[in-house]
Amino acid sequence: MNILVTGGSRGIGRAIALGLAARGAKIALHYRDNRAAAEAALAALPGSGHAIFPAEIGDAAEVDGLWEAVSAQFGRVDVLVNNAAVYEQHPPLETAPAEWRRSWERTLAINLLGPASLSLLAAQAMAAAGGGRIVNISSRGAFRGEPHAPAYGASKAGLNSMSQSLAQALASHQVYVYCLAPGWTATEMAAPHLAGPRAEEILAQHPIGRVVQPEEVASAAVFCALDAPASMTGSIIDLNGASYLRT
Ligand code: NAP
Repeated sequence: MNILVTGGSRGIGRAIALGLAARGAKIALHYRDNRAAAEAALAALPGSGHAIFPAEIGDAAEVDGLWEAVSAQFGRVDVLVNNAAVYEQHPPLETAPAEWRRSWERTLAINLLGPASLSLLAAQAMAAAGGGRIVNISSRGAFRGEPHAPAYGASKAGLNSMSQSLAQALASHQVYVYCLAPGWTATEMAAPHLAGPRAEEILAQHPIGRVVQPEEVASAAVFCALDAPASMTGSIIDLNGASYLRT
């Protein structure tokens, strides 16, 4: 089982790569530019045959290059995990128009267009090969709103919708699409906020008394990548410690 995990060098992606490798998968571990972190994550993976691949997910040519490089080295890719993303703040009443637009463009390019491009390449290859799975890492913010980072919330809402559309488009080709929506998770992305002036307010949102751990998101991702029934395709699964519930 060959699995491409984007943003596998740190945080949730690293935990997903570890969980999948522990189940015997061969991991193509993608990162942006933090080679030392990618190499450390690679060294921690159980099993053999894993490799690291750098690419800027917000750049279409680099996404194409990533898919080509992984396909050339691994042959078939059975599962794609779209995990890499950025969280940029641009509070509506404090951000100048030019910076607002730049932040929207960057966020949508990395969090939505990148996964969309990679998903297309994966879906076509998987359909031709007889099947596969795509697991998208979204966010609670898609449902709850992101007052400090509206583009992030919108990018994840777009990712949710894309997951649902692809699930419908690809199911007859045995390509299944799952989506996870974590809340605040203890990673480098969240660290400045969890240690900053909003820490108490953020913690108070969580009836479980703590934020989510990367390993908890990873266990759900491993389930979707390897075990989830086909009938769950198109699902969006919450992992937010009951901090935001929807019906
Ligand atoms: P993280 O600790 O900041 O790690 C981000 C990962 O993505 C790194 O591997 C990084 O590579 C890669 N990456 C970042 N920007 C990239 C770009 N432009 N091109 C290619 N790769 C890029 O993030 P995380 O907290 O683990 O988040 C993982 C996923 O969970 C994201 O989709 C995020 O939106 C979602 N999520 C996180 C939280 C949270 O509270 N942490 C909550 C809800 C959802 P380098 O190491 O090379 O920089």
